[in-house]
Amino acid sequence: MPQESLLTPTAPAAQAQPLHFAAPRRAAPPALQRWRVEDVQALLDLPFDELLYRAQTVHRAHWPARDIELATLLSVKTGGCPENCGYCPQSAEFDTGVKAQKLMSVEEVRHAAQAAKDAGATRFCMGAAWRAPKDRDIEKVAELVRTVKGLGLQSCATLGMLEKHQALALRDAGLDYYNHNLDTAPEYYADIVDTRSYQDRLDTLAHVRAAGVKVCCGGIVGMGESPVHRAGLIAQLANLDPYPESVPINSLVRVPGTPLADAPPIDPLDFVRVIAVARITMPTARVRLSAGRQQLGEPVQALCFLAGANSIFYGDKLLVTGNPDADADRRLLDKLGYATRAVSIEPGEHA
Ligand code: SF4
Repeated sequence: MPQESLLTPTAPAAQAQPLHFAAPRRAAPPALQRWRVEDVQALLDLPFDELLYRAQTVHRAHWPARDIELATLLSVKTGGCPENCGYCPQSAEFDTGVKAQKLMSVEEVRHAAQAAKDAGATRFCMGAAWRAPKDRDIEKVAELVRTVKGLGLQSCATLGMLEKHQALALRDAGLDYYNHNLDTAPEYYADIVDTRSYQDRLDTLAHVRAAGVKVCCGGIVGMGESPVHRAGLIAQLANLDPYPESVPINSLVRVPGTPLADAPPIDPLDFVRVIAVARITMPTARVRLSAGRQQLGEPVQALCFLAGANSIFYGDKLLVTGNPDADADRRLLDKLGYATRAVSIEPGEHA
């Protein structure tokens, strides 16, 4: 296969051309491009320099260079979840020492969101460990969404499986994004969780999209999956119509007590490759370095930014696992000469 065809296998000719830094920066056309798993795999297998060059070229064609979005994540309802996701310390099936807590109050969330804003976050994500929220839960979360929006922050929620009417209720409350990850390739999914199906995930994503809420959807690598499974995950994400506006890529945090506690760690350079291929296949998505950033260290994070990551979770804790502290992130971004924004920008916009 000629190298150009590896960039965008079924892309319109205009996108398949090499892109120069002086080219006008425009958002990609909405037309769906079908990515075959083997095309994604071919990208993953490129020589490292070629892959990063392509990823950075695509990145600069669609986003300002060195622009990093800061998102903060708060667990508003922790633990006791009836699902059995093999990576998750919040599942009630695993003995991980996570203490179940009920839904936080409006005042607690307001306080945390204000602190996140004061620390420079532009998006505030709220996670609740539910299999699927009840309608009365949705009413409470809607109030939290209104509170976050009232502070001038973008809002995001991750609450489990949603019905159509629930997605509409959250949209009406002002929810900007809904997070629901595909986790891994369909073929590997049952090895990770068997209390729900891949189709359940896709159905929720369809309800969110139909309600007009932006989609945040990514996955986790380092769960013992094969390289083909990694390619399968990226192909699934890139072939969503349209692909997600936000794509969190997580490196498994191996939590003692979970079934994946002893999963073999992913080679950090393979993690960078996944970021680069996410950028190439989903040019206008915010590609977010998510869980596992703490274990990557500064040099690998810098490579991830070079590969096209332009969002990080910010703050010293993800839902229940550790994250680099905010000062360490500021120091790293300063060291790299990167900007962060008080106002989030969309693809194609400029400073
Ligand atoms: S990932 Fe979410 S759905 Fe799965 S066990 Fe954890 S909290 Fe529950």
